[in-house]
Amino acid sequence: MAESLPKVLYLGTGNPHKLAEFERLAPSSLSILPSLAPPVEETGKTFLANAFIKAKNTALAFSGPPGQLVFADDSGLVVPALGGEPGVLSARYAGEGASDLENREALQRKMKGVPPEERGAFFVCILVAALSGSGRLAGAAAGYVYGKIARGPMGEGGFGYDPLFVPEGYRVSFGLMAPEEKNRISHRAKAFINLLSLLGFKSAGENR
Ligand code: IMP
Repeated sequence: MAESLPKVLYLGTGNPHKLAEFERLAPSSLSILPSLAPPVEETGKTFLANAFIKAKNTALAFSGPPGQLVFADDSGLVVPALGGEPGVLSARYAGEGASDLENREALQRKMKGVPPEERGAFFVCILVAALSGSGRLAGAAAGYVYGKIARGPMGEGGFGYDPLFVPEGYRVSFGLMAPEEKNRISHRAKAFINLLSLLGFKSAGENR
């Protein structure tokens, strides 16, 4: 794909926070545009399975010309002390339609009394790219960031579990970081760099 790099990637998401992060992460030669598809049930047991379901759904519902690159993000928080929860249920940990705040409160309840040495956690981001029209798979990439769950919320920035997640080597949560700081180390940033490289883009720095 290195011969004719796309100028646009279409992101299948209804989550404005994810879209904003990808817009910031993309090299200046590349636009990230939202592509809404009818909602699809995330029935997969893994992030990869759900990212694939979302990418295919977006590719097949795409209203523009065939052969455009669309991609989907399935991501979440994994806490080994909770047997891997919230995991693929991250967006609905406190129940279907739960808000970010309700999900964070559910996590805090489960983490009550868990000692510092067992509060390790990591975010996962899986990206799957597919071609519009056919839904043919174009690539998949992963990114991870390790850290721990704070005792209480720290800051109000970001989204989801950001105020509760303190990345390794930091004393502040994602919720207290400037977007560009989170974007330097996040699971989403790493997965996106990997996906772009797979699609033939040079490394992020070289594209700017
Ligand atoms: P998805 O839309 O099914 O991929 O669900 C993603 C969920 O995982 C979000 O609703 C958040 O709860 C959580 N999540 C994923 N990425 C992040 C992040 O960067 N910060 C905080 N929470 C995240």
